[in-house]
Amino acid sequence: MRIDLHAHTTASDGLLDAEALVMEAASRGVGLLAVADHDTTGSVDLAIGSGRRAGVEVWPAVELSCDVDAGEVHMLGYFIDHHVDWFQGLLGRLRDGRWHRAERMVEKLVGLGAPVDFARVEALAGGGAIGRPHVARALVEAGWVRDVADAFDRFIGRSGPAYVERLKVTPAEAVAILRAAGGLAVLAHPGWARRDEWIDELAPAGLDGIEVYYPDHTPELIARYRAAAVRHGLLITGGTDFHGGTLATRVPVGSQYVPEEIIRPLRERAASRRPALVPPAVALAVE
Ligand code: AMP
Ligand code: MN
Ligand code: MN
Ligand code: MN
Repeated sequence: MRIDLHAHTTASDGLLDAEALVMEAASRGVGLLAVADHDTTGSVDLAIGSGRRAGVEVWPAVELSCDVDAGEVHMLGYFIDHHVDWFQGLLGRLRDGRWHRAERMVEKLVGLGAPVDFARVEALAGGGAIGRPHVARALVEAGWVRDVADAFDRFIGRSGPAYVERLKVTPAEAVAILRAAGGLAVLAHPGWARRDEWIDELAPAGLDGIEVYYPDHTPELIARYRAAAVRHGLLITGGTDFHGGTLATRVPVGSQYVPEEIIRPLRERAASRRPALVPPAVALAVE
């Protein structure tokens, strides 16, 4: 059985909706799938329902983007109790922040001469959490860039002329939020940033795990993060970060090797965690 604990849908910046993702996963032999959209759990219940019909176990998950001076940290949350009101309220605020930020990025792009408009970006997002990939796709359609990667390289990457910050939480806040929502907090794709000190800092702050198995991780990085997990007593996760098409990691759902032995410890730790009635204190900040 294949395992994929990191996939996106049209609820955020993925190309497949919940049903299509689950069908694609099933056809590739995935028996366990976690739907981890950016700042939304909008596809979780649909995916669980499709999974029941298709014989795929689906875990509720989410991916929060965090603020740090040096770059981007993403925090995955597994087994979050996604129906908790305060949690949905917080995700809603993060999505509003994304919406305003996309609007400002489009303004900057128009200022640079790009023939894009916000209505098209919104349409591509289809009511889901708007992200830079939607802006990038609008730029591709408009013929202003060659492909999505080109849009990030030249315009909307962190140091690009049309990049705009948005409302985010700190990594420690993300850990607190995900745990208070009854879930496990897992540092996503640590190989992106290569800042191992974040693991050292977040482990005592309640981090539950690290995403060790990931398409961009070389065998050396996998060994390194496995060792870090053992050192800090952290759980191990893995997945493709599947978005569909040529977005993000560009690999098929379920194609990342994830050992089955990591599953039981995740289930066991989550079983003893209950959602809190009130949210942790967080200051949503724009960098
Ligand atoms: P956002 O959440 O709006 O900040 O956009 C980040 C998303 O854009 C990530 O989740 C990836 O799906 C995608 N992404 C980030 N960097 C790149 C890149 N260099 N090329 C293509 N897609 C990227
Ligand atoms: Mn994404
Ligand atoms: Mn990510
Ligand atoms: Mn992701």
